[in-house]
Amino acid sequence: MFFFSLLVSRVVNVICRLLLFPILSPLSHFIFLLFIGLISTVVSSCSFICISAMFQATQQVYQKYAIRQQQQQPLPPRYIPGMNNAPPDMLPARSNNLGKVSSSLIKEFRANTKNPAQCLHEYASQMKIQLSFHDVELIPDPNYSLAIFAVQVEINGKRFPQGVGMTKKEAKKNAAKKAFKIAVLHEDDSNELPASQDLHPQSCCSSSSGSNSQQEKHPIMRLYELMASMGKPCEVIVADERGPMGFKACVLVNNEYFTEGIAGNKKEAKKLAGIEALKKLNLTIASNAAPEEKSMGQKITDLVYQQLYMYLEQFPDLRNKEKSVAAVVQLTNNDMQVVAMATGNQCLTSSMLTTDGRCIIDSHASVIARRTFRRYLTIELQNFINQPNSATCIFYLPPNEKTLKIRTNISFHLFISDPPAGDYEIFHKEPSRLLAHEDNELIAMGAHKPAFELEDHGALSTTSEKGDTEHIIENEEIQESLTEFTSAKTLKVMSVSDKLLKWNVLGIQGAIFSHIINPVYFHSITLGKNFDHGHLSRAVCCRLYEELDAKLPEPYHINHPQLNEAFIPSFHDHKESGLGNLSINWAKGQEFIEVTNASTGRIIEESPSKTGSSMASRLCKAAVLYRFRQHCLESHCKNITLGLTYGQYKSDAASYQAAKTLFYKHCIEAQIGGWRHKPHDVDNFKEINKYSTIEFY
Ligand SMILES: [Zn+2]
Repeated sequence: MFFFSLLVSRVVNVICRLLLFPILSPLSHFIFLLFIGLISTVVSSCSFICISAMFQATQQVYQKYAIRQQQQQPLPPRYIPGMNNAPPDMLPARSNNLGKVSSSLIKEFRANTKNPAQCLHEYASQMKIQLSFHDVELIPDPNYSLAIFAVQVEINGKRFPQGVGMTKKEAKKNAAKKAFKIAVLHEDDSNELPASQDLHPQSCCSSSSGSNSQQEKHPIMRLYELMASMGKPCEVIVADERGPMGFKACVLVNNEYFTEGIAGNKKEAKKLAGIEALKKLNLTIASNAAPEEKSMGQKITDLVYQQLYMYLEQFPDLRNKEKSVAAVVQLTNNDMQVVAMATGNQCLTSSMLTTDGRCIIDSHASVIARRTFRRYLTIELQNFINQPNSATCIFYLPPNEKTLKIRTNISFHLFISDPPAGDYEIFHKEPSRLLAHEDNELIAMGAHKPAFELEDHGALSTTSEKGDTEHIIENEEIQESLTEFTSAKTLKVMSVSDKLLKWNVLGIQGAIFSHIINPVYFHSITLGKNFDHGHLSRAVCCRLYEELDAKLPEPYHINHPQLNEAFIPSFHDHKESGLGNLSINWAKGQEFIEVTNASTGRIIEESPSKTGSSMASRLCKAAVLYRFRQHCLESHCKNITLGLTYGQYKSDAASYQAAKTLFYKHCIEAQIGGWRHKPHDVDNFKEINKYSTIEFY
């Protein structure tokens, strides 16, 4: 800095001397030069300081700008198959919700000083989410048999368990309470009994502003108010004499008998008569209200249970038992019918395994439903052979093609009552994050928003014969030998979640029938209990990356089915245990249900349908091979060699095998684990002629 100022003063000095020398005296010349020198030193010092300050400031601004630029850079979007919208990382995390809700609101809710519906409205406005209440069909609640009304809360398209009550207001309050607990406090009270005040008949008159019973209106007062608003004269009379059951009170409307109540004292009798009158009034109001349109998932569920209980008449022992149900529903235009249904929740005991293709290894409901559905396909194949151009047949043969296709106005929908074991079942208890309203709208249109929140989300797993689920740690395929398979303490099969994943790539028709028909995929999956879109979409399809989709030979692809939530009517949701190892199956076109024992993989003695002396099920591999060969013979298939083993027919299905190999390889690439293969021996049979040919029909 010093040298710089010296240089500047020197330059100025020289210029001034040249300019001023001729006109100034030596003294004034000296003073002038001194003055100029000082000024130039100060100016140059200041300018240096300014320049260095500017340089530093520019450097700081640049650094800040660079940091901001870095922060504004969007994170590389997570690759989610079947979804091109905002990646889930950018969505608000569910776990943050609690922090955003004001603590005073939570306190008021817990202290019961504010109506739960009001709490929920405030929560919705704080979170800027959409909230609505819906009157729904009452699912009878054994803990609250007096309930007449049911209301469900919907937050951003997600529905919460219904709240019930003797009045609409009470049902709304209870629904809000449940939704607030789940959505805001993350407490699931589905197994909790309703609060004692809810059980008390007086709660039918609870006011919206408080829950203090002293503030609640007496049923008679409420009745008088209601009747007055309807312009109907009403009075309550009590008999003076006590009858054999107690005192009797009657409600008269327009001087005509309306309801009555009997109790040990006159006051209680009047109250009971009033409650009965309120119930009757509410029922009348409810019956006049337009019924709400059922969702697709609920229609499927109701139809499945209606059909199931009709066929369970053939085997009443299972009626009241706890059972896991799965079914396939066919939708033809707007006509819905169940074409395959099954129950079951176990797999074979290892010692019962045979290699003649005559025992069923996995009897979980979904697996049996899929096998039953394949049986339905073979019934339809027979119809196609008999009447190839019939409009009622589900198949058609496109011109210049070799394999049959399903008619375009027909779709198939899978129903499963219980959370599928494996990736879904392991994680569904921790709900995936709440999605924004726009995302739920997209989901309603068929988009998938899978939850990837933990490292283990998406991993393949096995289910043992004892029902234990275990993640597969090995990231390589495992080909088990027969000895390994049967000598293990418990036999292990791939979990239902993983099988659903496989069917969403390879179809549900299986390798053998891919010789005859194009892959068939489920159009939707409806889950009857504990639905969570984030977990279900991940478990059944979105664990796979779209690279696989691009590699698969046509017409194979990753199928992303519509996912539906539904509720199983509580009178069908039995908890009585026993007969747990039994499995039933029925396909459209069959008169009787077949009952098998999952532990032996064969038919039981009492089964309404019994087709052979070896007690082999109509769903076993040998039966599949038999039907396949029958079809080839009857349809004069020229490109299929007869007399091969079951395994050879499977491996001959070139396109299917290519897709399958890519799928297994992809599971390893996606690091979700290596598929565990059953021993080849279970497919290595062909001697079906020694069995009666009618055995499987
Ligand atoms: Zn998906």
